Amino acid sequence: MTGVRRRIGVLSLQGSFSEHIQSVQRAGAAATEIRLPSEINGVDGLIIPGGESTTILKLIDEYKLREPLRKAITTGVPVLGTCAGVICLANRISSHAMRPLDVLDVSVSRNSFGRQVESFEEDLQIEDLSGPAFRGVFIRAPVIESCGDGVRVLARLANGTVVACQEGHVLAVCFHPEFVDDMRFHKHFLNLVEQHAMGDPAWSGPQCRRWLCRNTQGEIG
Ligand code: GLN
Repeated sequence: MTGVRRRIGVLSLQGSFSEHIQSVQRAGAAATEIRLPSEINGVDGLIIPGGESTTILKLIDEYKLREPLRKAITTGVPVLGTCAGVICLANRISSHAMRPLDVLDVSVSRNSFGRQVESFEEDLQIEDLSGPAFRGVFIRAPVIESCGDGVRVLARLANGTVVACQEGHVLAVCFHPEFVDDMRFHKHFLNLVEQHAMGDPAWSGPQCRRWLCRNTQGEIG
C-alpha cells in the first residue's frame, strides 16, 4: 500500500449505495456518490450496488451515465457489481429485454431463487479471500448461468451454482457483502484498486489486454 487514500465512486441512483459507502469507508478508502457523468472523473474504482436492475439501468440512461460508465470501465477503472449490479454489468440477461452495460462476459438470470420471501444466507468459500467462510446474503438474487473464457469463477453455492466471478478488473457477486459486518470482500476490492493504481503487471498481462480489446471493439489494445 502507498498510503494514498483511494476514492471509490458508488453509483447512487437506487438500492444499497449507502451501505456500500459505509463499507468502503470502514475498509479504509474514501467513497463518493455518483449521479452525474462528471462525478465519474478521477475515481480509482467504481461500485454498482444491489437494488432493482430494471430501475438502475433505466436511471443510468436517464442520467446519461451509460457511455461515461462504459468508458471508465473499458479504459481500466476497476468495478465491483453486487446483485443487481451484476445484472447491470453483464453481457446477456436471459429471458429479459433489458440492455445491460455489456462489460462482463457472462449470462445472468434474474430472480433465480424466487421471490423476496425465498431470500437466504449461505456460507461461501471465495477464491482469493483468506480466513473463514464468507456469509453470502442472497435477496432476490441473480445467478451467473454461463461465463466466457476469460472469466474466473470465484464462488459457488453448495449445489454448484456460480455466484461470484471476475474478468480482468471487473468483479461481480450475486450476494450483498455491503450487508455484513465482515469487511474482507470490500478490502479485497480495494486491494485490486490499489494494484491497478500502482500499475501492477498483472493488469497489463495477456488476459487484461484481451479484455480491453473485446470490450472496446478494438479501440484500445
Ligand atoms: N432482483 C433484483 C433485480 O433483478 C436484484 C435484487 C438485489 O439486488 N438484491 O434487479
